Parts: sequence; C-alpha cells; structure tokens
Amino acid sequence: EFYLKNIEEKNQKLNAFLSVFDKESLAKADEIDAKIKAGTAKKLAGMVLGIKDLLCYKDHISQAGSKILNGFESQFNATAVQRVLDEDAIIIGRQNCDEFGMGSTNENSAFGACLNEIGENRVAGGSSGGSAVAVQADMCLASLGTDTGGSVRMPAGFCGLVGLKPTYSRVSRWGLIAYASSFDCIGPITKSVEDAAILLEIIAGKDEQDSTVSNLPVEAYSDLKAEKTTYKIGYLKDAVESDGLQPEVKAATWAKLEYLKSQGHEVEAVDFPLIKSFLPTYYILTTAEASSNLSRFDGVKYGHRSVAATDLMSLYKKSRFEGFGKETRKRIMLGTFVLSASYYDAYYTKAQKVRRLIKEFTDNLLENYDFLVCPTTPTTAYKLGEKTADPIQMYLGDLFTVQANVVGLPAISIPNGVDNDGLPIGFQIMGGAFQEAALLSFAQSIY
Ligand code: GLN
Repeated sequence: EFYLKNIEEKNQKLNAFLSVFDKESLAKADEIDAKIKAGTAKKLAGMVLGIKDLLCYKDHISQAGSKILNGFESQFNATAVQRVLDEDAIIIGRQNCDEFGMGSTNENSAFGACLNEIGENRVAGGSSGGSAVAVQADMCLASLGTDTGGSVRMPAGFCGLVGLKPTYSRVSRWGLIAYASSFDCIGPITKSVEDAAILLEIIAGKDEQDSTVSNLPVEAYSDLKAEKTTYKIGYLKDAVESDGLQPEVKAATWAKLEYLKSQGHEVEAVDFPLIKSFLPTYYILTTAEASSNLSRFDGVKYGHRSVAATDLMSLYKKSRFEGFGKETRKRIMLGTFVLSASYYDAYYTKAQKVRRLIKEFTDNLLENYDFLVCPTTPTTAYKLGEKTADPIQMYLGDLFTVQANVVGLPAISIPNGVDNDGLPIGFQIMGGAFQEAALLSFAQSIY
C-alpha cells in the first residue's frame, strides 16, 4: 500500500512505471502475510520489486519500451523473474526504459522520457531509467534492470542508487528481450549494497534455458564477507584526470581515492591506452548484434502490424518503420552496414579483434589489481533534451561503463556525493570475473 500510494502520487510526473499491477500485488501481499504467519515465507517475502520493460513476465505485457511490441504478452517468465517470484517477491509493475535498452537517458522510450526525482527537469539516465527512478522515489524497494553498456549503473549513478552489473553469464538471459546478446546482463538497482547482493544471490546461477550461463556455484553474496581488509586498487588515469570531467565529479572521485588510501588500500594510477577504442568497439558490435536480434520483429510474429501494407514486403517495411523509433532504426541500419559483405572485415571483424585486445589488457591489469575504479559517468544527470541533438555527446556519456560489458566483467556503481545542484555522483568499481562476492563486500565497506 505504501508503494502503491507513492506510485499514485508521483508516477504521472516521473513516468517510471508503464503498468502497475495493483490488485494482484495486494493479493500477493496478503498471501505472503499468511505465509509469514505460518513460518513458510521465503527469502524475499515482502520485497516489492519493479521490472524493466525488457523482462518477460508471464501473462503480462512486455514491450521493450517500443511500439513494435504493442500489446505483446509473454507466455513465460524470464528466469530472473521466476526466481524472485519463487522467493516470494511481489512484482508491482513494469518500468519505463529506452527502446530495447538503446539509450543513456530514457528519452528513446516510445512511452516518453522518465524524469529524475532530483533537480529540475533532469533525465533519469538510461536505459533502465524507470527502474532507477522507481526506487529513488520509493515506488518500489528495488528493481531488476538490464545492462548492455551501462544501463543499470548509469541511471543508478544519476539517481543516487546502487547498480550492479554481474559478470557476463552469471545470470540467465532467458526471457530478457535481446539487444546485444554477447553484452546483455540482468542486474539489480537498489538503495543498498546488501539488497543488490541478496537479489544477485537469487537470480544468479545455471539455467537449462540458457546454455551460456556459467555453472559456477552461486556464492553467499549477501554475507558481504571480505576476503581481505586492504586491496590493491587501480584508477584509470585518463578517466580520472580527464578535462572532460565535470569539476565536482572529478573532486568527488579524488576525495574517494584519498579516502581509500586513508583506509589502508593501495591506490595507483593505471594507463589504459585502448580507452579511445571503448566506444567504437562497443557501438560497432552492439549495433551488429542488435540488427540481427531485432530482425524477428517483422510485423508478422509479434506486436505492431501496419494497416497500410499492400504486400509482404511492404508489410515488413511499413510495420518496422512505424514500430521502431528513430534511434533503434539508426542502430539497425548501422549494424546492417557493419555486417554487410563489403564492410564486414573493416568494421565487424576489426571490432572483434579490438574487443579481444581490450579484454586481454583488462584481464592483465586485474592480475595486478583487485579492482579498477573511476567515476560511473563524466557528469551528473543532464537536462531533459540537452544531449538528444548530438549523438556523439550522448554516446560519450557511456565511456566509463561500456568497458565492463566489452570484457564481460562485473562492475558496480555506488553513490559518491552530489554536485553543486544536489545531483548525485556515481563511483564505479570493476572486479575480476565472478568476483562479485569481493566486489560487493568492498563496495559495502567504502559506501
Ligand atoms: N547507453 C548504452 C547504449 O545506448 C548502453 C545501453 C544499455 O546498457 N542497454 O547502448
């Protein structure tokens, strides 16, 4: 009732939820109440969650923030959704996001932008903007978002929350509507590291429906036990010393590094010569994968079908043109271009090679350092519309977050103070593959 009341009061302005499951949530709450009394309640009893519009929830609408999936109801639950339900969580609604996760501000949603609760007309961050604002504005306790290049961490950073992207293959992608399959990860957005750890513990682990999921056992992340008391930490020199950083973000990051030193951690600058290749590699490979993944939306199998079609080819073309938004159409075209016979080697193959180099370089660094840190984003939340006319500026906002997805490593964004306008600043910590237990306990210890 508490969360529903907040949704009622705030959602019209903030636009975080696209659907609210009020009656069924209240009924479920009664059921769980009874279970609690009977002593049979499970681990997430009473945890009120929201889910990003990219996750499938049986018999509920999932539209990936897109018109092309108009009215699409899933016939099954995403594995992550099934697992939280099995532990007695209550799913209160589906949350706004950029279309298919393509965006950094939630402004590419077919349902309109989602507003940050802090500041005047500030973006939520994206693509899991609705998932972040819903937690920020107490419309649910925690959210499940998805992160392909920063979409959990960036809105968490912009909204003053904790956002965790697990190691690639830690969490099943079954029932996650695909954007770029070799990058996509489901992750929690929460108010505390502990809640993120509890949720990861439940959604992680092998799954027969997704053969790419790791069989490694799921650790007791929520114990938040640190293996060591002091760590060796590298900060990306180019990121932290860059003139492109908003001054308050720079100052807050330096202050955090000083704090880490004062706690006995060893803190060193590291060079990362390939930093200039992060965004080109990310945007070539993700658009390529997206153009292939999104080819299934043809106006025949799901969602929107053009009424103006006259034959099969015009049905495809018109349905796709009407159904997809501008950014998604642009990415499908870019992806088709980089995969086309004459350009495949020049772009796609080359980007795969650079991805490998970035991975090797990062893995080598993580042999020497326990964690790599930097600000989550170069600036705090933009004004609505501030970056929409300039895609390069928009993509630059992803500079620090895409690395973790390019190399498949876990990374977390935690709050690190606010700027002069009171807008939250995020601090990102990246760890080695499957080192979520250490990453979470370290994040908890410096939060
Ligand atoms: N902003 C990035 C993009 O537009 C990341 C999005 C995401 O992680 N889904 O691709």
